[in-house]
Amino acid sequence: MPDASKMTNRPIKRGHKFLNTPGPTHVPDRVLSAMHRQTMDLSDPEFLAASMSCFEDLKRVFGTEGEIFLYAANGHGGWEAALVNTLQPGDTVLVPETGNFSNSWSNMTRQLGINVETIPGDWRRAIDPAAITERLQRDKTRQIKAVLLIQTETATGVTNDIPACRKAIDAAGHPALMLVDTIASLGTIPYRMDEWGVDVTMAASQKGLMMAPGLGICAASEKAIKVHQAQPGNRAYWDWDTRMKAEHYRKFCGTAPQLMIFGLRAALDMIFEEGLETIFERHRVLGAATRAAIDHWSGAGAVELNCLDRLHASDGVSTILVKEGYDADAIRTLCRDEMMVGLGGGLGDLSSKAFRIGHMGDTNASMLYAALASVEATLCYLDVPHTPGGVTAAIEHVVAAKKRLGATTF
Ligand SMILES: *Cc1c(COP(=O)(O)O)cnc(C)c1O
Repeated sequence: MPDASKMTNRPIKRGHKFLNTPGPTHVPDRVLSAMHRQTMDLSDPEFLAASMSCFEDLKRVFGTEGEIFLYAANGHGGWEAALVNTLQPGDTVLVPETGNFSNSWSNMTRQLGINVETIPGDWRRAIDPAAITERLQRDKTRQIKAVLLIQTETATGVTNDIPACRKAIDAAGHPALMLVDTIASLGTIPYRMDEWGVDVTMAASQKGLMMAPGLGICAASEKAIKVHQAQPGNRAYWDWDTRMKAEHYRKFCGTAPQLMIFGLRAALDMIFEEGLETIFERHRVLGAATRAAIDHWSGAGAVELNCLDRLHASDGVSTILVKEGYDADAIRTLCRDEMMVGLGGGLGDLSSKAFRIGHMGDTNASMLYAALASVEATLCYLDVPHTPGGVTAAIEHVVAAKKRLGATTF
């Protein structure tokens, strides 16, 4: 047997590892167990029933009567699926810049031969809906075919107001499709696709949905399907038309990721047992508790919450800026390797300047305290100035919420 301690040159650690990255997130044991089973005939009735019920139940999570498409892929697969099914090379799209994820999605869009116009953003505030209206009003010849939006920009910890963006498009009387990335927000904060007039929504399994990474999801409105059908396009694996055919195997363009579907089934059961509204409340309280800790630490001037507009602070992920002279990557690495708490790093313009605490999915107050205490311990260890007692500030917030709400799921 290889000696793990010699291989890594680190002592073997006992006890739980905590995962506070904003995706992947902690997977509940019940979901893990649901995946631990034998594969089966492609048309086994038990599998078909589980699979079809996932397609139906995902509609409830998205808040849509539209079509659901499930891919053996990740969020990037969902992005590409949305693009190639509704746009053509040579088309133009409008992307309000929110952070590293809007930039990455823009880059993918360009790689597909689609022109991208951006509305610059400062990475610390939400999208300004008025800027969308202003740009679309100037598009007299209707060159812009779609507006690409991200509900929660995971790099910055800022949540955008999607209904306000819808109103902004309508105010310009512009027919562009509205595509929304909810990869980091679905199942953590309210999302109502049909009511808000969204045409295509993308999600992935490994964040608020409490599943392992490996499934990319798209939901498409009737309008999006019509636009799709009017276009030829070079697409095969991602193609919606094929996946809307009656035969079940076509829904996955081949063999279904069976065990992941059983896992997703268990995760959806857990979501409906807790109830979406209760889930949102849990995330609201844990998000605010995290911010209470960060604000407390920031008293010493070396760390601060990136999001400047508190109404738009994400309840699923908090991005913490670290003052120049202190190493954000060292905080993240030490917290993972020494404290056994996985955090997100700074992305894009924020690389080495920020770290991120995920508080989404299968989590509760005690798990959050463990993460916050470990971050505080890491700040101590690395001599990063902070006002001690951030964890107590978080506890006080949660206790007040529990007293106000009575029996809670956190
Ligand atoms: C995680 C994430 C992605 C990328 O998802 P992958 O599954 O890593 O491809 C895209 N957009 C947002 C907002 C995300 O949080």
